[in-house]
Amino acid sequence: MNGAALDSEKQPAGRRCGFVALIGAPNAGKSTLLNALVGSKVAIVTPKVQTTRNRIVGIAIRGRTQIVFVDTPGIFPPRRRLDRAMVQAAWSGAAAADYVAVLVDSARAKDDRPDGASERILAGLKEGGYAASLVLNKTDKASRESLLKLAQALDATNLFGRTFMISALTGDGVDDFADYLAANLAEGPWLYPEDQIAEIPLRQLAAEITREKLFLALRQELPYAATVETEAWREQPDGSVRIEQLIFVERDTQKAIVLGKGGRQIKAIGAASRADLETAFERRVHLFLFVKVRPGWGDDPDRYREMGLDFPE
Ligand code: GDP
Ligand code: MG
Repeated sequence: MNGAALDSEKQPAGRRCGFVALIGAPNAGKSTLLNALVGSKVAIVTPKVQTTRNRIVGIAIRGRTQIVFVDTPGIFPPRRRLDRAMVQAAWSGAAAADYVAVLVDSARAKDDRPDGASERILAGLKEGGYAASLVLNKTDKASRESLLKLAQALDATNLFGRTFMISALTGDGVDDFADYLAANLAEGPWLYPEDQIAEIPLRQLAAEITREKLFLALRQELPYAATVETEAWREQPDGSVRIEQLIFVERDTQKAIVLGKGGRQIKAIGAASRADLETAFERRVHLFLFVKVRPGWGDDPDRYREMGLDFPE
């Protein structure tokens, strides 16, 4: 999916292009919105918090504008080193972008107050002085009355140029938001080829897809203690690809859970992942999963590099 840089001299006049960072509390719906905007699955989505660990770029074209969206990990008070790396990645995504969209889960608001994590993000936004829009998400789950109260209160902070009410899940309001961005990003050449929809190395995307299945299959804390890496990617003569992945966990007991009785759990995870990989890569996939115990992987700089994160000291 990673294309070569475009020759800006040869592009038609009147084009626009810009980076838009999607920031928000964990579970606000950033990855769902990214996928809706791009029209394809480029970021994994689960009902659990802190699914997205690194920055993921999704690319959409509206008329003459190429919008480069940057999905970020949720911003929340960090406890572990991995938390710190994720929050850092989110704010640096905002700082590097031309425009910021702050997603707030409107269904979690109490009257005119958003959830605590969103309130802290507003404080950070003020400090950074970013040009931003407010995107109230999950309107399908919020009452009209509380939605209006929330919109009014957040509008009064003067932090936002515009407020949008959307449902990333149903697609309601998503077009208006994209059209607004398309009209307001600066003139300039497109940065990616027209058919490119994402910038995430294929190996990393493949690892993310398996990690999503882990998240969905396993309960409680275990998914947070696991990370997935693509070890080998081999093109086969028949056009299929052989992918080998390592699942790192912290303890033997976790390994046993991931494997399941008679290997049933890992088999199910592998089957679900393979199906998604075949859709994502539009080809047959042979997937091999291995589970390794690696105590303290959360403090190992190599694991961060594999995830595309900086290692916080
Ligand atoms: P992120 O952590 O901000 O990236 O959030 P995700 O995109 O992973 O979404 C978190 C959860 O919220 C998932 O279960 C989504 O299906 C759900 N979700 C996202 N957008 C909406 C929405 O507009 N309406 C509803 N009802 N659920 C949503
Ligand atoms: Mg996400």
